[in-house]
Amino acid sequence: MENEAIIRLGIFIGLFAVLALLETLLPRRARRDRTSRRWMTNWAIVLLDTLTLRLLALALPLLAVGAAIDAQRLGWGLFNQIDLPLVVEVIATILILDFAIWAQHLITHKVPFLWRIHRVHHADRDMDVTTAIRFHPVEIALSMVLKIGLVYLLGPVAWAVVAFEILLNGTAMFNHANLRLPLWLDRALRLVLVTPDMHRVHHSVDRVEHDSNYGFALSWWDRLFRTYRPQPLQGHDDMTVGLEWQDDRPSTLGWSLALPFRRK
Ligand SMILES: [Zn+2]
Ligand SMILES: [Zn+2]
Repeated sequence: MENEAIIRLGIFIGLFAVLALLETLLPRRARRDRTSRRWMTNWAIVLLDTLTLRLLALALPLLAVGAAIDAQRLGWGLFNQIDLPLVVEVIATILILDFAIWAQHLITHKVPFLWRIHRVHHADRDMDVTTAIRFHPVEIALSMVLKIGLVYLLGPVAWAVVAFEILLNGTAMFNHANLRLPLWLDRALRLVLVTPDMHRVHHSVDRVEHDSNYGFALSWWDRLFRTYRPQPLQGHDDMTVGLEWQDDRPSTLGWSLALPFRRK
């Protein structure tokens, strides 16, 4: 696990570069805000998120992957109690963690205090690969604490947690990308994965659309729990992305960080 951080960073930067390039070649929607300002803000937020996780690691030295190693040492968690073939354990870990993230996302929309934090993500008026990294540091910290708790309950092999985190980050970057996929490819991919067109529906200002498509990696949970909405009513070009009372302030860092504490 020594090279884990470097491998993850390499995959992140590589995928980010590929998606950013594809966005310029095959854009889905015209942008409303100045990209340079949005990108600086969204990148500053991810740097603050990384710092937050480093600080959290001082209080909880074992973040998700460390928690899996610790749970194994202590014999804690379901998978450390029962003997399953490795492949079954890895698949089950990925499914359970992805379902947990789906449920967590739905809850952040339903609980007013959590929605105040999560709306920082939704305040982006344009969606692109940097929207995937635009989560308030408090949301990132809460999410990590929840994930650590779940890992102790599950007791998965550590690299299954790494694989899941890479999958989640990768799919989040992919499904926020302002990317025009051929319709046949979108249809095929979304049988399993959340595609950009599917996740864009969730970023609509329209409440009904906004209360749907909570998935990040697998598209199955929304279909299973009837929160799946295939397309926006107004179409992808004419739909409005963001929050109802939107202006261009979400492009600035200070405003975005203070948003959870504002009435608007
Ligand atoms: Zn959301
Ligand atoms: Zn999103």
